[in-house]
Amino acid sequence: MTAGLMQTPSLQIIDILKFAATAHARREIVSRLVDEPVWRYTYAASWRRTAQLAHALTRLGVRHGDRVTSLAWNTHRHFELFYAVPGLGAVLHTANPRLFDEQIVYTINHADSSVLLFDRNFLAVVERIAPQLTSVKTFIMMSDETRTIPGAVGALSYEALLKPESETFAWLRVDENLGAFLCYTSGTTGDPKGVLYSHRAVVLHAMASGLAGAFGFDAFDVVMPCSSLYHATAWGLPFGAPVNGCKLVMPCDRMDGASLQELIVNEGVTFSGGVPTIWTMYLAHLEKTGETPGKLQRLVIGGSAVPRAMAESFKKKYGVRVLQIWGMTETCPLGVVATPTPELAEAGEEAMDEAIWTRQGRLQFGIELKIIDDDGQDLPWDGDSSGALLVRGPWTVKRYFKQDADATNEDGWFDTGDIATIDAAGFMRITDRKKDVIKSGGEWISSIDLENVAVGCPGVKIAAVVGVPHPKWEERPILVIESHDGETLSESDVYAFLEPRIVKWWKPDRVILASVPLTATGKIDKKVLRGRYKDVLG
Ligand code: ADP
Repeated sequence: MTAGLMQTPSLQIIDILKFAATAHARREIVSRLVDEPVWRYTYAASWRRTAQLAHALTRLGVRHGDRVTSLAWNTHRHFELFYAVPGLGAVLHTANPRLFDEQIVYTINHADSSVLLFDRNFLAVVERIAPQLTSVKTFIMMSDETRTIPGAVGALSYEALLKPESETFAWLRVDENLGAFLCYTSGTTGDPKGVLYSHRAVVLHAMASGLAGAFGFDAFDVVMPCSSLYHATAWGLPFGAPVNGCKLVMPCDRMDGASLQELIVNEGVTFSGGVPTIWTMYLAHLEKTGETPGKLQRLVIGGSAVPRAMAESFKKKYGVRVLQIWGMTETCPLGVVATPTPELAEAGEEAMDEAIWTRQGRLQFGIELKIIDDDGQDLPWDGDSSGALLVRGPWTVKRYFKQDADATNEDGWFDTGDIATIDAAGFMRITDRKKDVIKSGGEWISSIDLENVAVGCPGVKIAAVVGVPHPKWEERPILVIESHDGETLSESDVYAFLEPRIVKWWKPDRVILASVPLTATGKIDKKVLRGRYKDVLG
């Protein structure tokens, strides 16, 4: 064997910030905060505060291999946690505040976190769930000293903790395969599943995401992540931006059109990203006010299919290019990105736009794709044959956290639960979904969980929940109820039964009393239902 004779430093997340603080020291990070003035500092200053945070966490007992949970918005403080925690060799569990209390409790206990850091407006949630948390010893409110409310959990102030600490830290060299981020996905039924990103996966993903064939970053870009930092690390933007020396703008929890517009214009945002719902609201804001999107050039949109009309409006009315992305928590989350090729350009701009707007994206180096039929046989890349979409690569999940079996098959392929076609040039198009879930505004609703509640309603024989297109939320659940013979049920009876038993945003947009079609094997035929009711929320 002839070994390569090159150096083998392990890939470390903290080195990304170190690089930005050196090569792009003066580039800014601007952050909105909950009830505090806008924060503005540089990568160099962020590097120093990250050292202070590492000291503070060490003082609180956080050690290599430990878990720390954040329940936080897109802010510079959350960004600091993104570096300090993995820099200590610990794991940051980014809890998702959109889950129900029981699920948040489940994820924090499952992560076995010792410290919980949260934004001010999560105090009520934290007080409510604290008695059920089995491992958390320290609560920290991510706010300045004067605004910190200890509440029933005796929360410490983030800023007070940082203040006395040194601005330099002797960062550990950790194994690149060590866990760094723990992101839970509720994209299927059952308890949320933890995907544990390694340093190696995050660094490779950060390098790949900025490439010209993907997000195409350079140091002139001003990047504003509007996908949540708690949701698959906001598509890795807190890493991809500093790798390329981009200015970062953090919108906190204010994703309405007017708030985004203020930052886009005042901070010169060139690149942003988020789920389609956010951009529907932003487009509506532009239409209503007649304003223009400043220096905005590119928008990466994904999490749900991007409506073609959205991509067209952004380009034709505002000169903004929409890059559709497909990905999932299990892929860190970058899978494919819809960017042009010379071959497409030959067909003319209109044809190229059409091709790009109607597909999820194009094969990227670092993530392999394949589609298979029901018998597991590979399907051709002809743009027509559709089958289960499988992925594989250095930032794809191998096994869920604390599970014994791999999540992949023996060849390392992970089944995404999506159904897709792929064409000869590697453009992938999602055509359907195997997993029985609904995605509303970027967050999952489990149709099976909803059905399980609904069948408990007196008089119900079969309850079927399907997702149908919705103009604002992309998809919303509707509930089709077949009642027992002789029972007379009304929609309001069903709503009255559901309301105390489910979270508000899971409430079906319609309850329809009708017979429920079954497949040959006696299962609810969701395909028929989806087709039958596709226009009800018009
Ligand atoms: P993310 O936060 O990246 O959306 P999730 O794990 O919550 O990650 O959801 C991943 C799933 O979302 C995919 O398996 C797919 O069903 C759906 N999805 C993501 N992007 C797209 C897209 N561009 N078009 C259609 N569906 C998408």
